[in-house]
Amino acid sequence: MDIMKRVPIPTPFGVGRVNCYLFPENELTVLDPGPATEEAYEELEQSLARIGRGIDEIDRVLITHPHMDHFGVVGRIVEESSARIFAHTDAVKRLSDPIGYFKKEQAYFRPFLLSMGMPADTVDTVLELPEPYTTYQDPVAVTDELADGDVIDVGINLECVSTPGHAPGSHCFLAASEDAMFTGDHVLSDITPNPLLTLVPGSDDERTRSLPTYLESLRKVLELEEVAVKETVGQGGHGEPIQNLHDRVQETIAHHQDRKERIADLVAEHEPTTAYRIMKEMFPSLPATEMFPGMSEVIGHLDLLEDENRVVIDETDRMNLYETSEQY
Ligand SMILES: [Zn+2]
Ligand SMILES: [Zn+2]
Repeated sequence: MDIMKRVPIPTPFGVGRVNCYLFPENELTVLDPGPATEEAYEELEQSLARIGRGIDEIDRVLITHPHMDHFGVVGRIVEESSARIFAHTDAVKRLSDPIGYFKKEQAYFRPFLLSMGMPADTVDTVLELPEPYTTYQDPVAVTDELADGDVIDVGINLECVSTPGHAPGSHCFLAASEDAMFTGDHVLSDITPNPLLTLVPGSDDERTRSLPTYLESLRKVLELEEVAVKETVGQGGHGEPIQNLHDRVQETIAHHQDRKERIADLVAEHEPTTAYRIMKEMFPSLPATEMFPGMSEVIGHLDLLEDENRVVIDETDRMNLYETSEQY
């Protein structure tokens, strides 16, 4: 695909480089330019220089989802160019005030994690750990809000496919003419994206049911005509291209299916039990830095089991205890 260039941008995060995509043809468009670090900025600058362009010439920035490894540097791009910024409607508020959003999440998740059985000192560590990382992003004012089905012409047509789950306001861009889909972190070649728990957009006191939403969004991709014919290549936010997007989506769904059954077994074995206890059973040596994703994963599967009436929650003394439903 000559119309597009993939540029792996360095990040200070464990995930490694983030894929930025350049579309130089119809106005200069960049998709997910990376975090707010000097290294990321320089890499972007050099990559543009190789095609004879500069950061001040960027006309449009597309953001797949409001995670700082993807959008952090956008604020600086805006200072130096007259770029318009495109993101999904559900990502707009978070992008405009990422630090405020982080504080709101800390406030909500403190009592929440306690209610899921996590010890108080662990909760403090888990919620304070990400704080130093919040500097890798600057606030972004979205100029063009995107919704499912919107089309952007970047020399090829990119159709916005709304895929919440990994983050609210996450979407993919389908390039049907190229048999390609830019998947952000919705589908990745060699890691399973985490269905991170977060606040429902616009709310201070309601969390997302991220995994059920994420699986729905995976099935949505699977059912797209272009993907169903099995020839579509996925261009993800990290790693190499996904040669067969259809198979990779199916694999990802199967992975979660297996894990859900494992967690159902763990509930049966330890009931009544907490999400934290199950997480410790599943991932005994998880470092504190991975505990929020770990809890998101376990609670996501408990949400699925609850939706299927396979587990029930007993809420006693502000503690959520999970048990196998009597019907099972
Ligand atoms: Zn992400
Ligand atoms: Zn990412």
